[in-house]
Amino acid sequence: MSFPVIPGLTRNPEAIVITGSRIKCGMTFVIICSKIDSLFRGNDSLWTRCHFVGDPKKTTAIVLLMLGLIVGNFRPLGAAEPETPPFAHAPQVTLSVVRVLDGDFAYISDADLAAMLATARRMYADKFGVDHVRFIDAGRLSIESFFERFLDKKSEAYRRRDARRFHVGEANDFSRHKQTIMAFLKKWSLDELQGFFPAEERARYASYEDVHAGIVEQMTEKVAEIATLQVGGKPLLRPEKAEYRSFLNWLAALELQDRYDVVLTNGFILYDDMSQPSPHSIFSTCKVGGVSAKSPKRPALDGRVIMGSTFGMDTDIPFFKETAGATPRDRRNDVTGAYVIAHELGHAIFKLPDHYNHGPECLMNNAKNQSYEEGYALLVAHPGPCAKCAVWLSARDAFWDGEYFFSRQEWKAAIDAYTKALKQTPQNVDGHYGEYVARVAYRMSRAYAALGDWPLALKGVETALRFYQWDPAYAEWKKDVEAHLKGASAPPPAAQPSAASSAP
Ligand SMILES: [Zn+2]
Ligand SMILES: [Zn+2]
Repeated sequence: MSFPVIPGLTRNPEAIVITGSRIKCGMTFVIICSKIDSLFRGNDSLWTRCHFVGDPKKTTAIVLLMLGLIVGNFRPLGAAEPETPPFAHAPQVTLSVVRVLDGDFAYISDADLAAMLATARRMYADKFGVDHVRFIDAGRLSIESFFERFLDKKSEAYRRRDARRFHVGEANDFSRHKQTIMAFLKKWSLDELQGFFPAEERARYASYEDVHAGIVEQMTEKVAEIATLQVGGKPLLRPEKAEYRSFLNWLAALELQDRYDVVLTNGFILYDDMSQPSPHSIFSTCKVGGVSAKSPKRPALDGRVIMGSTFGMDTDIPFFKETAGATPRDRRNDVTGAYVIAHELGHAIFKLPDHYNHGPECLMNNAKNQSYEEGYALLVAHPGPCAKCAVWLSARDAFWDGEYFFSRQEWKAAIDAYTKALKQTPQNVDGHYGEYVARVAYRMSRAYAALGDWPLALKGVETALRFYQWDPAYAEWKKDVEAHLKGASAPPPAAQPSAASSAP
């Protein structure tokens, strides 16, 4: 049982591994301090198919990671860890689905929705090897009423996103976002990023600086062109509609809403986030086809929500049209279900990031110049899971084991499973890596407390706070633990996972 070495750390070029030690007699030891300024970044993971979007104020955070490694407390060194069958404790995931419809674009009928969701479920089960997602139709809203209801422009969620908005028709200064952009790009190795480009273009993007320069150029040019386009004889970005076609506005509304887990829209969404430019958005058509985003009021996807748009398959605008000719309705529904909804569920449920160098069987892979329909055809032609994604699935499975044992108050088994989850979880995950690590460390702290190991309970909650300082539950719990260590009255026994609902 241990506080594990958190994976991904040593892959980061800025990581400084000071020492790693094992100390006998069940004592813990701090093993790693690391300076990482790229950790506390992503909150939303998006797409045209997707990427990670974070809060600028967090982007320069320097994080000291302290990990305790414990030996021998509860199991002799070398003893095998108990194993459970894959996904034995995967939760049933029941998702509330709403359609948000824009009168300028093609409708999504009840039959369309049913077809999309059936295909999404099939593709998800094929690629991830578990069939645990169910959908509930929560009806339709006009895009106007969705934004009226959920986009509060006085909110912090709106304000911090507005600060990184690309303003159409204006000169936009990318330099103030450069640090954030570079940190975002460095979530992927250069090799991985290069996998996105066709072989003949890779020499142009031989460094992160090259990719950054390409993004600035492409985004500026493409948004200028999109601003000239029309739909139904009217400008696509006309003032009365532009608000509903801003990706940053969508992110704010998705964060603030409290009703839905899956939002399907027929609308066009402009990729207008200057700070975290996903290559597969910027280098294609600068639109968003889907996103896995932060939605802390929704527990079904652990504080996430997914959104997908059918616009890319419905539109006749040549700039956006991915394939020649109209996409038949059933094809559009299948592609949306498989290539958009199931993909976004892969982000939200397994914490998978977008990939650029995985194979044709990978639901999370993206390639330049590959249309949705082509991507979908590859998935159908190459059924089954992606081997390169397996570590994310295994890590998430271990987390679910931890949640299961925690809920049953089987503390030792819970700690073992959480430890495995932390060891396996790659640093590049959907959402906020530090937030996720903190949540697991907090749970371990509660479990250690339940076992009476207060020093390790303290290590756990200290780790949680180092990775994510914004959840007040962690600070409160740390006070309880410290009070106990000082001999004050005992805090309540290890609770049910309160952080599940409070920590996004
Ligand atoms: Zn994606
Ligand atoms: Zn993969």
